[in-house]
Amino acid sequence: MNWNRKIGVLAGACAMLLAACLPAAAQVTPSAAPAVQMSPSPVGDTSALAKEAQGWLMELIKINTSNPPGNEQAAAKYVAGILQKEGIAAEILEVTPGRSAVVARLRSAAMADPAKALLLVAHMDVVPVEKSRWTVDPFAAVIKDGYLYGRGAIDDKGMLAANLAAFIGLKRANLHLNRDVIFLATDDEETSGDSSVKVLIAKYWDKFAAGFALNEGGNVFVKNGKVQYIGVQASEKVATNVTVIARGPSGHASQPTKENAVVHLAAAVAKIGTYTAPVHFTTIVRRYFDGLAALQDDEIGKWMRSMDTADRGEHAQRVIADASPLWNSMMRDTIAPTVLTAGVANNVIPGEARANLNIRLLPGDTIDVLLSELNKLVNDPQVRMEVQPNAGLAAPPSSLENDFYAIIAKDVTMEFGGAPALPFQSTWLTDSAQLRLHNVQAYGLVPFPLADEDLKRMHGDDERIPLASFDKGVAVLARIVAEFAVTR
Ligand SMILES: [Zn+2]
Repeated sequence: MNWNRKIGVLAGACAMLLAACLPAAAQVTPSAAPAVQMSPSPVGDTSALAKEAQGWLMELIKINTSNPPGNEQAAAKYVAGILQKEGIAAEILEVTPGRSAVVARLRSAAMADPAKALLLVAHMDVVPVEKSRWTVDPFAAVIKDGYLYGRGAIDDKGMLAANLAAFIGLKRANLHLNRDVIFLATDDEETSGDSSVKVLIAKYWDKFAAGFALNEGGNVFVKNGKVQYIGVQASEKVATNVTVIARGPSGHASQPTKENAVVHLAAAVAKIGTYTAPVHFTTIVRRYFDGLAALQDDEIGKWMRSMDTADRGEHAQRVIADASPLWNSMMRDTIAPTVLTAGVANNVIPGEARANLNIRLLPGDTIDVLLSELNKLVNDPQVRMEVQPNAGLAAPPSSLENDFYAIIAKDVTMEFGGAPALPFQSTWLTDSAQLRLHNVQAYGLVPFPLADEDLKRMHGDDERIPLASFDKGVAVLARIVAEFAVTR
């Protein structure tokens, strides 16, 4: 039996085991798409590595890195320790006191070209929990019914542990690399604050400069227990916060007037809530819907294909936008009022009332155009709008034509039983925008097949990852990284 065939047989046995031990909700069976020949991964069978990585993930969950305050330094030390045990020099980069990143490198040559390097990125911080709403301790890494529960199990400690596994797997395989592979664990992703990747790039860019990156941002979408498609994030929307400020005379609540700031603010927010921004398809979103139409039932598929037509386009866009908040947000700027502030006492009319609008612009759209529409709509001299500092910057999309994207697309299709890879423009933010602004071809792929029910738990209660999905994700990542770094 030659080495390649042995790997193939092993992979087949693992696939059967995988199906048998997956919880029903997370069963990942190949879709009805054409059979795809599974070739052996350059790093071989990763099932033992994935089990090891499950242990790393559990330890990472137990290190509470809720942001704020983050405290990523403890996680950074743990990650650096794992790398050092493998004989890989890991450097802890202090971003601000108590908040650190970790960087490590597998070298291809003494003087490798940074433009060819591949960067594996994941963030160490997590969003806070509402502990009383969880059924388990969010920082105890509880395993139940085939799932690992804990804050960060998916976002993004799952990916962090899988990146570590892919990186360490490559080191252990001792293959000749044709490009440097860099591991980077970032901090302060969730609030994009003073210690974020922007600051990290400003301080330490030369330590992890790369031409390509793999990060979170895209997902393996599962429908009815099958992988439906793999969304590979190549672009993202841009977040801006705008404060709506209503002013009026303050006074005694027993003698109200028509100028009450609270009433004017409420009316303005209600009008803004009815606003629908015009549709604008970016190249990536157009390609996404083109590919997705073929996977939908006839009715939705038909409307998806009609969105660009002159006669039925507008109606089609409405049908598709109404069918999914994700699809709606992929094709237009969106506005979500999120915070209202007014009043000091029940019997005092306040002189000022404020609302925060969280705005997600399509890359290429500007806040000024949107605000002039909103001002026209609100049309109230007592109300004005102020753009908040630290607005996101639009980054150019990553190319869909290079070798790296081709490998990702080919590998995920092979690993997920023929399901197609579709380019994806996320409505959410990732560190990749900052990387793209530094000429990095960054792609987002959380490689774990996840049902909608589990995806919704990210940033919510009882976040969990099916362990079989985690193991599969390790295999997928290890294959992509090794193929790009070894064979190209
Ligand atoms: Zn994340």
